[in-house]
Amino acid sequence: MPNITTEELQAVLQQLEQAIYNHEQWAKSFDRTLICRGSHNPRDIEDNAHHLCPFGQWYYQLSPDSLRQLPAFQAIGLEHKQMHRQATQLLRVSLAGGGISPQDYDLFANAMERLRLEIHTLKRELAETLYNRDPLTGANTRTGLLTKLREQQELVRRGVQPCAIVMMDLDHFKSVNDTYGHSTGDRVLVAITGYVIEHLRPYDKLFRYGGEEFVICLPGLELEVAREVIERLRQGVAANPIETAGGQPIQVSASFGFTMIASDISVEESLDRADSALYQAKNEGRNCTRSWKPGLEA
Ligand code: GH3
Ligand code: MG
Ligand code: MG
Repeated sequence: MPNITTEELQAVLQQLEQAIYNHEQWAKSFDRTLICRGSHNPRDIEDNAHHLCPFGQWYYQLSPDSLRQLPAFQAIGLEHKQMHRQATQLLRVSLAGGGISPQDYDLFANAMERLRLEIHTLKRELAETLYNRDPLTGANTRTGLLTKLREQQELVRRGVQPCAIVMMDLDHFKSVNDTYGHSTGDRVLVAITGYVIEHLRPYDKLFRYGGEEFVICLPGLELEVAREVIERLRQGVAANPIETAGGQPIQVSASFGFTMIASDISVEESLDRADSALYQAKNEGRNCTRSWKPGLEA
């Protein structure tokens, strides 16, 4: 979920909590109507009942755009509509004075369970994204890095797709802090990671590995294509002026080292290879990209 800021994520999670609460209240009251044959809510019998219930109002009118693109969010829409279709049918039978068959009730109850599962899947995805996100830069923390790399290594082993691992380290960053102060240093870090996140594909991942050092995972690219992609990123970072609080723009570059995930060594060793390539990039003048080759350490 690269396009959702941390603040947005927190707000969205709160909204979702409220929407879940509203949905559960609706479900309780609907069951009560069916069982006690009490007075029903006229909205529940409409063809577009799924737009009219409190959850539907949030889903269709109030939920943020950033959420709407997520597959987990879209899946909720389908299950929610399906559940309301079943609910409307039960209500119509009940209002006509008929008895509800166990089969029809089961269809409704199963639709409700599927909806709950989809809602909780979305909630878990959002919470995990928030939990694994570095608060300063919005990159992923390194917590999930090895898991992600091992997943990719499995795909490499099965011949599904290759994957490049990139180490990126900002150049002379200590002198940025020394010259402009630590808070400007922070702004630079935020601006550069923002630039990188914006220019990655949705399934690429950026991890903050240490202070001003990052790992990028680029699935599906062969070595030479990966080199072009990283080179473009490097050039973009170096050409992107960053506004300081004083209004004076500063230019910061980064060095890149990369390797392909290999199937016959551990992912930790592949990371070491990317690190050796980064070390070479630093030694050869910085603001450049190097790939690991046999003969380099690691
Ligand atoms: P090189 O080109 O060799 O990488 O030089 P460098 O100065 O970038 O390398 P070095 O590792 O000596 O310094 C890294 C600096 O990054 C030192 C540290 O204070 C700074 N740094 C690390 N994390 C943060 C952060 O979150 N905010 C700020 N402002 N600075 C940070
Ligand atoms: Mg550095
Ligand atoms: Mg460093």
